[in-house]
Amino acid sequence: MRKVVKNDTVYILSGNDRGKTGKVLKVFPKTNRVVVEGVNLIKRHTRPNQQLPQGGIVEREGPIHISNVKVVCPKCNRPTRVGIRILEDKTKVRFCKHPDCGEMI
Ligand SMILES: [Zn+2]
Repeated sequence: MRKVVKNDTVYILSGNDRGKTGKVLKVFPKTNRVVVEGVNLIKRHTRPNQQLPQGGIVEREGPIHISNVKVVCPKCNRPTRVGIRILEDKTKVRFCKHPDCGEMI
């Protein structure tokens, strides 16, 4: 089970966007990278295509490494480490590692 999944809110730990939070738009499990809404914007020089008939420079999010983000716990609203717990019926759940929270995410 992955610790960061799509639609998680994450807190950025490093880079120009340090301290920001954003929603995970995409996860690349093979490279351990994620794309976070509004974070690590890069300019791409694009040829004209169907979406952008005139071409030009487009700003879009670039992937960042998973180790540079922390999942924000929806219960206690703090960036946290994520633990994995296996329930009795063998389903895996993620939980907040703050000792005073511990809620499933
Ligand atoms: Zn929590």
